[in-house]
Amino acid sequence: MSKRDYYEVLGVDKNASPEEIKKAYRKLARKYHPDVNKEDPESETRFKEVSEAYDVLSDQQKRSNYDQFGHADPSQGMGGGGFGGGAGFEDFGGFGDIFDMFFGGGRQRGPARGEDLEYELQIEFEEAAFGAEKEVQIPRTESCPTCGGNGATPGTKVEKCTVCGGSGEQQQVVNTPFGRMVNRKVCSTCHGRGVVIEHPCTDCHGNGRKRVRRKVKINVPAGVDTGMRLRVPGAGETSASGGQPGDLYVLIRVKEHDLFERDGTNVYVDVPITFVQAALGDEIEVPTLDGKVELRIPEGTQTGTSFRLRGKGVVRPNSSHRGDQHVRVNVVTPTNLNEAQRDLLRELGRELGQNPNEQTRSFMERMRSAFLGDN
Ligand SMILES: [Zn+2]
Ligand SMILES: [Zn+2]
Repeated sequence: MSKRDYYEVLGVDKNASPEEIKKAYRKLARKYHPDVNKEDPESETRFKEVSEAYDVLSDQQKRSNYDQFGHADPSQGMGGGGFGGGAGFEDFGGFGDIFDMFFGGGRQRGPARGEDLEYELQIEFEEAAFGAEKEVQIPRTESCPTCGGNGATPGTKVEKCTVCGGSGEQQQVVNTPFGRMVNRKVCSTCHGRGVVIEHPCTDCHGNGRKRVRRKVKINVPAGVDTGMRLRVPGAGETSASGGQPGDLYVLIRVKEHDLFERDGTNVYVDVPITFVQAALGDEIEVPTLDGKVELRIPEGTQTGTSFRLRGKGVVRPNSSHRGDQHVRVNVVTPTNLNEAQRDLLRELGRELGQNPNEQTRSFMERMRSAFLGDN
């Protein structure tokens, strides 16, 4: 069973104030409290449901998350709107020998809700980091604008089907060894619509419904990442039977960036430096989501060293927490040297050989002791 909408559980409006939510919760909690309803096992379930809804809706953060993403498991309620697997049987209590055969879930309570739709939205790295307002075109079926949904050319008549009398169903009474049976099927003349159209609307071919591309505005909150789903209530498929439209689920896919990589709220960037900068230290410019910043490279920096720029990462959706940016420096070996540069390096090499640093010395020592057994 799909989870009920929290607003529905508390019986409040989507725009309800915190006070209204609190009031609704108190009333329901008193009503369903297990201590008051010892005989009714149902009430405990309701009490839990009410408490859970209040837990989310009373917290501004959780509420805004819920408004945006719905229940934690968005697969719930997906692809709905249908009926369970074709024709079913239902016993007509009281008649005994008559039972009824149903087609297409004709016994649903209220009109079926439109189906939920899913749409994959590609966004830029920066749009994911800072949020964006996107406009997309969602193909969905809507009431035909030419005929207003009745399927007839404007100005022509729509007649009630004389075969089924407008019910859309044909009944057939058959005698069987088990008794009299009523067999119902969809009317073959009007195909269940109950009306016959003499001049079908040319725009929708008499269907009354038409595939259109509907523009939908999507508010992408800052901090979304690939794989997250946003819910746009009511932007899904419309209902053919006048029910509520389904929801639109927007699956986020973030494009790769030339410079930045991202892991959750942290951003990573690789920056090349010369080995002179690494050895002597320097101030370098590094790109961040907020523009360039200065970064001090200390003397004697090794390749692969990471520096952290606090708070320069991506925000966690619907929160004030912002991750960090990690700058990894790569020391680049010089290439294409001219003769003068080679001479300088050779000289430097000689100097360094006479005065090896700690790292080199310790490696030489470990190598010596490792091969001691061979001697
Ligand atoms: Zn039409
Ligand atoms: Zn008919």
